[in-house]
Amino acid sequence: MMFEPLTQRRYLVPFKASRLPQQMADVLVIGGGVAGLRSAIAAAEAGADVLILTKDTIDQSNTWYAQGGIAAVLQPADSVESHVKDTLLCGAGLCNEQAVRIVIEEGPQRVLELLSWGAHFDKKTGNAYDLSFGLEGGHSFARIIHAAGDATGKELAQTLINAVRGRESIRVSEMSFAIDLLTDQGQCVGALALIKGEVNLIWAKRTILASGGAGQLYRESTNPKIATADGQAMAYRAGTTLADMEMVQFHPTTLYVAGASRTLITEAVRGEGAYLVDRHGRRFMRDYHPSGELAPRDVVSRAIVEQIRKTNFSHVYLDVRHLPVEPFKKRFPQLAQLLAQFDIDPSRDLIPIHPATHYMIGGVDCDTVGRTSLSGLYAAGEAGCSGLHGANRLASNSLLEGLAFGARAGADAARWAMANEVKFPHHLEHQIPPSAKTELDLTDVKSSLRSVMWRNVGIERTGDRLAETREIIAFWSRYVMDKTFSPAGGAEDAVAGWELQNMLTVCFLITTAAYTRAESRGAHYRLDFPEVDDNHWRMHLLWRRPMDTPIPKPIDSNHV
Ligand SMILES: Cc1cc2nc3c(=O)[nH]c(=O)nc-3n(C[C@H](O)[C@H](O)[C@H](O)COP(=O)(O)OP(=O)(O)OC[C@H]3O[C@@H](n4cnc5c(N)ncnc54)[C@H](O)[C@@H]3O)c2cc1C
Repeated sequence: MMFEPLTQRRYLVPFKASRLPQQMADVLVIGGGVAGLRSAIAAAEAGADVLILTKDTIDQSNTWYAQGGIAAVLQPADSVESHVKDTLLCGAGLCNEQAVRIVIEEGPQRVLELLSWGAHFDKKTGNAYDLSFGLEGGHSFARIIHAAGDATGKELAQTLINAVRGRESIRVSEMSFAIDLLTDQGQCVGALALIKGEVNLIWAKRTILASGGAGQLYRESTNPKIATADGQAMAYRAGTTLADMEMVQFHPTTLYVAGASRTLITEAVRGEGAYLVDRHGRRFMRDYHPSGELAPRDVVSRAIVEQIRKTNFSHVYLDVRHLPVEPFKKRFPQLAQLLAQFDIDPSRDLIPIHPATHYMIGGVDCDTVGRTSLSGLYAAGEAGCSGLHGANRLASNSLLEGLAFGARAGADAARWAMANEVKFPHHLEHQIPPSAKTELDLTDVKSSLRSVMWRNVGIERTGDRLAETREIIAFWSRYVMDKTFSPAGGAEDAVAGWELQNMLTVCFLITTAAYTRAESRGAHYRLDFPEVDDNHWRMHLLWRRPMDTPIPKPIDSNHV
């Protein structure tokens, strides 16, 4: 009962299909990051007419802001087996090995293809592709390629955007907010989207959800504003199955300067030899893990939280003073520029850092071509959950996943769309009764929600705090999920309202999943259950509306 407003809501807006402006596409792609762009290219290459929607301009995506690089086996001394082993180890028993193998085996081809499309990755002569390779935490081999030092995402995104723009059969509609997936008789048949201030109906034979992550659900986050988990919430409302929602990855090192946004400091900085030191200048990572600064992300994040507690201080520091100055600036030009803005001289000063929410590991449950439990709907990239990352993502594996599974999803969706006719349900309509409940201040709810998620559903979790957070979310939801936001009252306000409804929905799923999993594994750490419990919990937890209890899914199952 308590969660009914979250579990019962089907569409966020009322509509009558026959009265709305309509568009058609063989393949609709929601999202213009690595997964969406790569899937659109694959779908177009297979002959489909493709429409991409992005809620902001196309350069606003997690992809654009990615820094460290792309992990790929491109050197003879490296091996698929080694990359697979590192990924499985980091995934802490929840990876789907088939998905891992596919991404790691096909990833290098996807990277070479980028080179052929004009991508400029950093070079160092003397190896097969003349590429410069970096090392990051959890990798046993230096296999991370990067661009312009720490601006890998921008180069990758720009290369893919150029490739998309060069294909006539792909239309890109920016500033177009997807509100909900349309379904009829158990099939996804497109989406409702706000385009140029009007709700539009887009009929599509196949829809690919590539809407990215959920970092904005937390107060401290490395993600840009777009990452409000719209796709996961839309999929949940449409009855699709979601998996591993408790698995949220926190990044150990974001710049900690009061009032400034939490800009990520890439793991590669530690890969190049940076130390983590506390307020007393003491290196502490060896106290927590034999790999020291290069331990997996969850270990480093928790160690920082613990060291902050022990030293009774607000943050710790990265120390790069022992690294040669000019090569450091050349390798990390964006970081050097950022530090300069705050008068931090890395050759002399310590860099204040703190962990922040970074990556949504859980998402829409999908198989190895991106198919979800809802016929007609695919998921790719951070919006999806292919099983590649298990309970913890290995650094620089997500751009690779977006490339590999994006290409697979796009090709499969187009193949189906080109071989089948679909009769779209032009009679579709949905009514929503008016709300009798009072208004809450949406900005207040949003900022309180982000704070409570950071405090109670963050790096360290306990059952009582999670239970309390569920109640808080349920309380806000009774007022916010009950409302209907309409662009007639202003497009920006409507989008803000829909985003908050999506955030509440996914916060509810993350919190409920974290409450349910009474063990610690990978990125999910319960202070009250600090051990891994393989006997009871080595399985995925699936969530499907209207149930608010999970369905267990065995490891390595591709069944969605
Ligand atoms: C600061 C930072 C650094 C990172 N560094 C690395 C790294 O070095 N290596 C690595 O592998 N990974 C890195 N990651 C993670 C990686 O960037 C992401 O996981 C990956 O880019 C996700 O790609 P995506 O295509 O799934 O989503 P995104 O790139 O986030 O794209 C999402 C798209 O969906 C659209 N969208 C969302 N909601 C809607 C809606 N309602 N309607 C319409 N469109 C919508 C957005 O407009 C956007 O176009 C980093 C992430 C961040 C934030």
